[in-house]
Amino acid sequence: MRDLIRKISKLEKTARRLEPEAGARDRMSRAVFEYAGEFLDSLARLPVYRSVPDPGPDHDPARFSEEPTDIRPAVEWIRDHVDRPGLNPASGGHLAYVPGGGVYPSALGDFLAAVTNRYAGVSFAGPGAVRLERALVRWMARLVGLPESSGGDLTSGGSIANLVGIVSAREAAGLRGRDFHRAVVYMTRHVHHCVDKALRIAGMGEAIRRFIEVDRSYRMRPDSLQSEIRADRRAGRIPWMIVGSAGTTDTGAIDPMQDMGEIAGRENLWFHIDAAYGGFFALCHDGRSLLAGIERGDSVVMDPHKGLFLPYGSGAVLVRDREIMRRAHTYEAHYMQDARTEESESSPADHSPELTRHFRGLRMWLPLKLFGLAPFRAALEEKRLLARYFHERIAATEGFEAMAPPQLSVAIYRFVPGRGDPDEFNRRLIRAVQQDGRVFLSSTLLEGKFVLRLAVLCFRTHRRTVDLALEILRDRARALDRTA
Ligand SMILES: *Cc1c(COP(=O)(O)O)cnc(C)c1O
Repeated sequence: MRDLIRKISKLEKTARRLEPEAGARDRMSRAVFEYAGEFLDSLARLPVYRSVPDPGPDHDPARFSEEPTDIRPAVEWIRDHVDRPGLNPASGGHLAYVPGGGVYPSALGDFLAAVTNRYAGVSFAGPGAVRLERALVRWMARLVGLPESSGGDLTSGGSIANLVGIVSAREAAGLRGRDFHRAVVYMTRHVHHCVDKALRIAGMGEAIRRFIEVDRSYRMRPDSLQSEIRADRRAGRIPWMIVGSAGTTDTGAIDPMQDMGEIAGRENLWFHIDAAYGGFFALCHDGRSLLAGIERGDSVVMDPHKGLFLPYGSGAVLVRDREIMRRAHTYEAHYMQDARTEESESSPADHSPELTRHFRGLRMWLPLKLFGLAPFRAALEEKRLLARYFHERIAATEGFEAMAPPQLSVAIYRFVPGRGDPDEFNRRLIRAVQQDGRVFLSSTLLEGKFVLRLAVLCFRTHRRTVDLALEILRDRARALDRTA
């Protein structure tokens, strides 16, 4: 026994390094907060994109020693090897893909959630945390007009949120393995690839994907949708789910959700809406008309790490009938028997593939609380108008053509060179802009054409950055056109 106690005491001495005292904690916090401050203050100065040579095989970030390292060199290492190379998504110059956020109070919310380590998976353990998250889900449901019977979950992102929606749709339809190859999903070619991925993970890789025609603004054509569903029924297939996009990633197109919801209701199909990009534009003053019909969704995906400017790691799924969502995900286990009491409320774990997870609610709640809603509404409105401003300006710039005007905050355009292959020219143009590094733009293919995108959604993007993008595009295109 004495020997055992001696061994335990010795281990405790080393193990207690995991519990630094106030002085040591302060030293760590100070270094981290100082660096965070420098990082934020340097954003406007530093390039948004920096290509850095591969550090080679000797670079091994996971080479640890048994002994402690000081916080300062550790933070410097993060700055040099993590935060400097590649794309800087915190920069307002990030105008590519769908830009993300990173409002400061979110980081503080994460900090508190991690320090207190509240358990947000099961309401028995973290009733306050679970209630806070449920209130946020209800707030989002109200924002898009879903009824009080709806439920939802804060997820790690839009991909998992789409998965939860699609698994709920599968369970609601009572589809079994033998039906999967006859089940039909209706969507457009512009749907995000994570929907296809979710279908496969949900075991429905064999389901038939019916790509519906789009109009000139890349929105689903309801008349085509209706006739495809009829044809599938006549052929003995099982029309199952309609997927609408409220803001496609390519162009920000918003499918006609009003009409699609009506068809889904009439034909008894599940209506899944991927509003990962566009959902929070409901906060704009004309949000309800912009997103008309979103309230008809059986499941709706929104990404707070896009339209609510939160840091990465924040998605959300809403399901009109929370009982369906619960049936699709809930589990019981002996070792969890104490966590279920008669009066216990439903928990995130009942609505999600996850059990233990980060307490995500705080990173969303704290900024909404500290800033109030007004700046979120204004920023979203501002981003939409900036995309429109860019679209008008680029259309008037010599040599450029602009496609359909932006519905949300993505503008599509390209340069039409005097001679040579326009696709090749625009490929070189986007590379030149990325190498310049002051703004970061991306491209896509539309009807087989190589086109350029400008996506405004970072909360740090303002008119000055958009003017800079216009200037860089004009100068680079001119230079390339001259040498062509
Ligand atoms: C970003 C996006 C997704 C994927 O969401 P993640 O958060 O990246 O997993 C899905 N659909 C649309 C329309 C998106 O813009």
